Amino acid sequence: MIQLKGIAAAAGISIGPAYRLDKEEFIVPKQQISQGDIPLQIQLFEEALIQTRREIIDLQKKIAKDMGQDEAEIFDAHLLVLEDRMLIEEVISRLKKEQVNVAYIFSEVLKKYINVFSKIEDEYLKERTADVNDVGRRILRNLLGKERKGLEDLKEKVIVIAHDLSPSDTAAMHKQKVSAFVTDIGGKTSHTAIMAKSLEIPAVVGVGEATLKIKTNDILIVDGGMGMVIVNPDAETLGIYQQEEEKLKGIAERFVSAKSLPAVTRDGKIIEINANIELPDEVPAVKLHGAQGIGLYRTEFFYMNRKGLPSEEEHYQAYKYVADQMRPYSVVIRTLDLGGDKFLSQFEMPAQMQPFLGWRAIRFCLAQPDIFKVQLRAILRASVHGNLKLMYPMISGLEELRQANKILDEAKEELKARGIPFNKDIEVGAMIEVPSAAMTADILAREVSFFSIGTNDLIQYSLAVDRTNEKIAYLYEPTHPAVLRLIKNIIDAAHKAGIWVGMCGEMSGEPSLVLILLGLGLDEFSMPASVIPEVKYIIRSITLKQAQRIAKEALSLSTGREIAEFSQEKLREVLG
Ligand code: PEP
Ligand code: MG
Repeated sequence: MIQLKGIAAAAGISIGPAYRLDKEEFIVPKQQISQGDIPLQIQLFEEALIQTRREIIDLQKKIAKDMGQDEAEIFDAHLLVLEDRMLIEEVISRLKKEQVNVAYIFSEVLKKYINVFSKIEDEYLKERTADVNDVGRRILRNLLGKERKGLEDLKEKVIVIAHDLSPSDTAAMHKQKVSAFVTDIGGKTSHTAIMAKSLEIPAVVGVGEATLKIKTNDILIVDGGMGMVIVNPDAETLGIYQQEEEKLKGIAERFVSAKSLPAVTRDGKIIEINANIELPDEVPAVKLHGAQGIGLYRTEFFYMNRKGLPSEEEHYQAYKYVADQMRPYSVVIRTLDLGGDKFLSQFEMPAQMQPFLGWRAIRFCLAQPDIFKVQLRAILRASVHGNLKLMYPMISGLEELRQANKILDEAKEELKARGIPFNKDIEVGAMIEVPSAAMTADILAREVSFFSIGTNDLIQYSLAVDRTNEKIAYLYEPTHPAVLRLIKNIIDAAHKAGIWVGMCGEMSGEPSLVLILLGLGLDEFSMPASVIPEVKYIIRSITLKQAQRIAKEALSLSTGREIAEFSQEKLREVLG
């Protein structure tokens, strides 16, 4: 039995067999296709070959520059593999004959080639095995990027162990098949961790050596609340955790009583409690947990795991569904927040040294108005079906906000010209998640209807701590005095301007921090749905006056740790 410690990303306990996804392991599903799909499959294969060629040439240029021409020439052999007519023709002829997806056929042909090469006596040719293997994996990666299939095809319930999982990998996980996951790297508010909360499965990230220490079929206990993974536990430990699982259920039941009640303090202050979603499928679960509305709909997940960008009609249908289902409650649709740790396979983003500080979110949308406007028109069209609001991510200053609004006005004009109805008074808000926006909240407040504080980013940007990096996760402190001061500044500026202010970062669903945020005057809390009953219970257990005193005292403390300990202590007092 060994114990591994990581970062608690999503609470809960799961016990079961491990399934290790090796870094370079591809799950290539076999799918029957129709005669009519063959041309598209051939096209995908050709595109993957072209993309791979481009990657190798880029790599070759880089190596020629850094290490010299001789080293770069090694890659000529890789380029030759890409032009191997025998290999290409075998893939295409098998595709036509067998009518299964090209990624599967290619992986089969590749295996055969590697097998044949490795048995050849000639030393020179034998060495080519590595080239074929390397190029083949590149092609396969590009093919799978286009024809995304993977974790969703698992056959039995497992705990996934991976070096890293992208947010789109996590979004594609099948809740029925993946009961928890553990990764070597990653931080508490990476989108991979956030997705685990939406799937309501426990997750531990940033374990360091999970993929070294855990093998497929090892029995694991994943304690997502403590950030602990136990490998092959003895009978006694298993018993303790089975009891712990029961205890957690008991605690959850205590809070369930509050889930359908309003979040009102004991002295009558009503707070709006909403849920965060990534995909429309989450709406039924969100309602079950007692959310009043949706305070953050992360629409970028709608662009993932699919071929091509979604059309205006597809966007419209998704937003209409969510608006309809949640009516009369409000749904805040956050416009595309691409970049950072979220990428699309169908849109090639340039590699960036610091993706979180780079071409991301509203910056990307302002540079791609055609892509942006498709989404804006769809949101506007869906706004007649319910109480929809719209907000922009990562606004850093007034000019950016005005540019976004100008594109929104153009989208409105286009709909008017097409005679399509929309809510002309749709509320438009800004996420406040960049320190410059937090510091100029008074200026921004004059030109929006509401703010939603994105603490996941606000914390990483104000404390200079990458939210996805486990090595510096100890510095990622929601309770840092700087963070609390920024939040206070935003809330005060919003109220002075007469607009409401919510929070949709993970911080708003941290039970121990609810008291401080309530005391600072936050009007709306939006969080992973599963924590809603507990947060409502806490709000119903305290008066606003008490919360204000707690917030004031918290602001007088000097370190993140002091504030964290203080808020835990206050929560214990409130909950008895
Ligand atoms: C945030 O930054 O707090 C936020 C809610 O947005 P995201 O986590 O999607 O960056
Ligand atoms: Mg953000």
